[in-house]
Amino acid sequence: MPPRYVCTARNKGWPSARNCRPAPLIRVRMLDECVEEWFLQRFGDGMIFETVYDPGNGVDERIAEVRATRERLRADREAGLYDAADDAAWFRERYAALGRELSTRSGPSTTAPVTPSPRSAWEGCRRNSRILYLLRFGPAYAAFPHDWP
Ligand SMILES: [Zn+2]
Repeated sequence: MPPRYVCTARNKGWPSARNCRPAPLIRVRMLDECVEEWFLQRFGDGMIFETVYDPGNGVDERIAEVRATRERLRADREAGLYDAADDAAWFRERYAALGRELSTRSGPSTTAPVTPSPRSAWEGCRRNSRILYLLRFGPAYAAFPHDWP
């Protein structure tokens, strides 16, 4: 059985997913291919700018700490940790929370272009890293059944 993504909304108790049974699923490879096509078409050859925080206003230590934690999580994830479904959910939440904290830290900041280009970054990394890379762009997707109106 090839690996698949499956809807877990009903298990999470979402009222609107009460009647979602059987839970729809999609092969991981199919959805990954769709996401890759979507991403590379829109962002592959674009220029991405990132906010760079300057230290020196008293929050630099906390920023360094949050960054280090994020790097560690990223490395663990690349090493194959958090691959179980509940671990993966925890990881995403934690990773996003750290990102939010970083983005709300006030301090002098500048923007700088990110290299390499999204396409070469994408092509140069493995699947888990691609997921992390995508998270930086804040994507959201919805999957609909074939017979959706
Ligand atoms: Zn569902």
